[in-house]
Amino acid sequence: MSERESAEGDGLNDIERTDKEHVFGTWSYQKEVSPTQVVDADGVRFTTADGDEYIDFSSQLMCSNLGHSADRIADAVDEQMRDAAYVSPGYTTENRAKLGEKLAEITPGELSKTFLSTSGTEAVEAAIKIARFYTGKQKIISRYRSYHGATYGSISVTGDPRRLESEPGIPGTIKAPDPYAYGSTLDPMESVEYIDEMLELEGDTVAAILVEPIVGSNGILVPPEEYLPRLKEVAHDHGALLICDEVMAGFGRTGEWFGCDVFDVEPDIMTMAKGLTGAYQPLGATIVTPEIADHFEENMLCHGHTYAGHPAAVAAGRAAIDIYQEENLIERASEVGEYLGDRIDELADRHPSVGDTRGVGLFRGIELTKHPEKRVPFGERADKISPGSTVVDEVSATAADHGTYVANMINTLIIAPPLTITEDEIDEAIAAIDAGLEVSD
Ligand code: PLP
Repeated sequence: MSERESAEGDGLNDIERTDKEHVFGTWSYQKEVSPTQVVDADGVRFTTADGDEYIDFSSQLMCSNLGHSADRIADAVDEQMRDAAYVSPGYTTENRAKLGEKLAEITPGELSKTFLSTSGTEAVEAAIKIARFYTGKQKIISRYRSYHGATYGSISVTGDPRRLESEPGIPGTIKAPDPYAYGSTLDPMESVEYIDEMLELEGDTVAAILVEPIVGSNGILVPPEEYLPRLKEVAHDHGALLICDEVMAGFGRTGEWFGCDVFDVEPDIMTMAKGLTGAYQPLGATIVTPEIADHFEENMLCHGHTYAGHPAAVAAGRAAIDIYQEENLIERASEVGEYLGDRIDELADRHPSVGDTRGVGLFRGIELTKHPEKRVPFGERADKISPGSTVVDEVSATAADHGTYVANMINTLIIAPPLTITEDEIDEAIAAIDAGLEVSD
């Protein structure tokens, strides 16, 4: 990739410098923010202002599931914006009604009525409120290795270090251990029995257990087959709901519509965002069972946003689901995902710094280790809100030098390409990561 010089010596072009001066970077020390200007994106690739082209092996923030520049979604949004750019949530549009119907069709079991918002964070906020209103109980159990959003409710149920600066957060949030076979001393199935005991000790005060069915940014953790069914049983035995946060695992990433479909589990409440519109518009959704929906016939649902179900966003969501269905992208993710898994396992064979590879479909992680037998992680940067390893950052940077963007977090490369990726494109990206892993070996 091109080496850039600039008169100011900061390596930024004028647009990037203006952006850095006037727009906050998220989750960052601002002095470290170094935005790169993207000028074009098409299919699984994007191009920067320098003319460098990258394979998008993480769908940007694990959200561009349909790849870039899908005209059909752009046209649907354009048409809606010209017909009626905005109507308040008390009105509706054809796109909103049809999207609600579609979500009831593609989500598991009886889940049928959706609360709309504009992000994953807001979808989780709505889930917390709905669970509290419905059960009349306040506490939410979530897990340590989790991310559920950035606002006060959703960051309080988040387990990873991003929560620390916002603590103590909202009252009534309790963290439980994770099903993390590679990195935890607890066996995954022991961890669910631990939650059973927690519920026992909390008495009848827990509204819900909230989990990512397959953990995303905290390392692509796939629990054993029996874990999620047992977790639902444990929740229901104690009068608590099961909330599945499908913001990252949903919309085909796992080769099923949703992460909980991998385990054949129907949650009581499910949150969605990211792949819901394929990232063409910001949209969040929280879908519930008919029993929960009925509760709010006679009890007020005290929640809402100006842009809940914004006409342009629901137009994008509806068009995106049509594409997933008509192009059979869920089945495709399962098939191509097998190939991706094989190619990643080859990397594990070649590189001693690959400690563990895991995942399902097009949702995969490569966890790096300083010492393969002892599973020693690379040093974490304790001064970071979200600790990353400088080594894993360097692996990503080297892969980028070889033309592939791959996200990472806490010692793990997060591989989540658009569902449209081909085997040849996977080969290209794997070659770039192969070069990157030379750095960590
Ligand atoms: N839940 C999960 C599982 C996520 O991965 C994320 C974001 O990465 C969120 C919630 C928050 O979504 P958003 O960033 O759209 O607010």
